[in-house]
Amino acid sequence: MAVTRPANSEALIQNDELMRYRSLGRTGLRVSALSFGCMRLSEDMGLNEQVISTAIDNGVNYFESTRGYCGGQCQQRVAPGLVGKTRGVIVSGKAGINPDTTAFSFRKEIELQLEILGLTHFKFFQVGWFGWNRASHLLKRGGVLDALRQAQDDGLVQYIGFTGHDKPENFTKLIETGVFDTLTVPYNMINRAYEPTIARAGELGVGVVAMCPVAGGVLACESDTLKEALQMDLPTTEMALRFVLSNPNVSTACSGMSTMEQLAQNVKTVNAFDPDEAAGFEELCEGLDRLRETFGDRICTACRYCQPCPKGVDIPRHLELYRNWQVFGLEDAARERLKGMPAEKSLKNCDACGLCEEKCPNDLEIRAAFEELKRLG
Ligand code: SF4
Ligand code: SF4
Repeated sequence: MAVTRPANSEALIQNDELMRYRSLGRTGLRVSALSFGCMRLSEDMGLNEQVISTAIDNGVNYFESTRGYCGGQCQQRVAPGLVGKTRGVIVSGKAGINPDTTAFSFRKEIELQLEILGLTHFKFFQVGWFGWNRASHLLKRGGVLDALRQAQDDGLVQYIGFTGHDKPENFTKLIETGVFDTLTVPYNMINRAYEPTIARAGELGVGVVAMCPVAGGVLACESDTLKEALQMDLPTTEMALRFVLSNPNVSTACSGMSTMEQLAQNVKTVNAFDPDEAAGFEELCEGLDRLRETFGDRICTACRYCQPCPKGVDIPRHLELYRNWQVFGLEDAARERLKGMPAEKSLKNCDACGLCEEKCPNDLEIRAAFEELKRLG
């Protein structure tokens, strides 16, 4: 692939009437408060083109993509909507790494993703599915960081980010290396595990992309409990976006969208939300903390010490649904997901042997919680 020197200083598009913009950490880029996660694009190529193109017209200037999503078709689904509009938008690429990843293979991956998307360069490229135990693959001589630095020198990549699901303290250590300009983490009202990492990112000037702001659709279900706790009489989805954006260290809420309706609703919500006038971040956190306190220390930390269950039950997943119902009032969401649980992992297989309770460091009454869940399903 011919190396091009991109106009890295080009201004990003903005539509100040419809969209709000925030700083992406120390990069100097102004990113739309709503960004577009491309992992849910459908097989309808016409619709994909329309949604992506309309998002840009509405002022969305960041699209998160990788080759792996959508059965390997994600970037092919994104590309048509970008035609004629690539200047002034951020499209991030992403690739995972393993012990065999070399600078050469990672460079080829960057070039391939650029080619599929029809871009001259990435404003930022993410090391995906990353964690502390993979840092050595990144840092080794002839490894991924060498490829990224060379790609920066050649004008193919401007900034470097990472994303993954490692422990918050490990993510904090990773951003403290100084290698990364951006961090993409799951963050929403019912999953605030990365809040300390996000705060540290703010101190270090690392841009934060909050993914899963509506918890993969769980927060699309109504909850009077959340309304009362946050003192907001709004649909849960709107409260969810507002909560994420009320965190001053979050640069953008990255929502996986696939329809015009989702896009229109999200653009409207972000436009209507003025963080300077709305309830403060601390106030919202206090409301959520009060809900959690009602549950005391009976929260499953997903440590998975109780696994494997001899009957195949996915214990942490069921306890997450139980918590969403009991703590956050998301009863319909819990019921729906119980129905969608694969038969081999379902709590219906539980014979109440009690082995999991013996292994649980938090002394959770798992069988009692499962009895309640069974009644819900
Ligand atoms: S009590 Fe149920 S969930 Fe726990 S280990 Fe036994 S079969 Fe599995
Ligand atoms: S051992 Fe306890 S806290 Fe850990 S995942 Fe299992 S139920 Fe949750």
